[in-house]
Amino acid sequence: MSDLLQVKNLYTSFNTEDGVVPAVNGISFNLKHGESLGIVGESGCGKSVACLSIMRLIGHPGKVEADEIKLDGTELQALSEKKMRSMRGNDMAFIFQEPMTSLNPVYTIGFQLQEAIQLHQGLNKEQSQHKSIEMLEMVGIPRAEKVFSEYPHSLSGGMRQRAMIAMALSCEPKILFADEPTTALDVTIQAQILELMTDLRQRINTSIIFISHDLGVISEMVDRVIVMYCGIIIEDTDVRTLIKNPRHPYTIGLINSKPRIDVELERLEPISGSVPNPLNMPSGCPYHPRCESAMEICREKLPENHEIKDGHRVCCWLFSELGGKIKS
Ligand code: SF4
Repeated sequence: MSDLLQVKNLYTSFNTEDGVVPAVNGISFNLKHGESLGIVGESGCGKSVACLSIMRLIGHPGKVEADEIKLDGTELQALSEKKMRSMRGNDMAFIFQEPMTSLNPVYTIGFQLQEAIQLHQGLNKEQSQHKSIEMLEMVGIPRAEKVFSEYPHSLSGGMRQRAMIAMALSCEPKILFADEPTTALDVTIQAQILELMTDLRQRINTSIIFISHDLGVISEMVDRVIVMYCGIIIEDTDVRTLIKNPRHPYTIGLINSKPRIDVELERLEPISGSVPNPLNMPSGCPYHPRCESAMEICREKLPENHEIKDGHRVCCWLFSELGGKIKS
């Protein structure tokens, strides 16, 4: 599979009254055609900001810089705002956690779907209505023709999220960003929506980036996972390796702090300490104040990203020659 998305050294920061808040600190990753990638980390680690930066949805006072943000060979940073607007929807789509933040309460579901389809696909009114109803049916909304004329408030949370998915996928984007798409839903509805997205990904062959704070939720659905901490990628590997053989101390902490059905644990082990204030980031590795394996060098220098085995990358001094020497 060839690369669909290539991101190299992406930085995003926000100018605030208290100073510059770095949200994303030089992340690089690729996504292949048809691949599903999970981005996991605690709130504020930069996962959503990174994806919004790729879609150029960070407004003032945010600042985005990158060596490369390429979608299917096109450098997105070189595109005009008009061209970028047409790519959002046609080539890239975003599903937010709470559908009511994206659906307009004063327009019917059908009007909003039709508007997106007409704008991006150039279909006439009748064709776009037909396609809208087809999309509502495809995402499993019963009585799709009736729902077409209803307003968002008359639908349940799960149905609204399905309508959002229909809207995001209506133009068959090459890449779909799903930001905690099921967090606001009941557990049973969550499972249905996740299953629906997996099924649609296979049918439409869209690449998906799932953003979540919960590794358990997305581990069933993605091929690969990136773990973020304080704006950097600390581990990147296939989902199986990450669950069975995590190497970064933070990832190990994340996995040990979750109940598991296959392992009997007397008690869960929470990660000690808390995420640092982004206005006052620790020197060196940002995880060092919480890390039981921290060494001298961890307090001084940010570790480099090392490939430890077949595409398994870890950003930790424990896996570098330099860190090893200092440790011994
Ligand atoms: Fe811990 Fe050092 Fe690795 Fe950071 S670089 S995770 S502080 S061992």
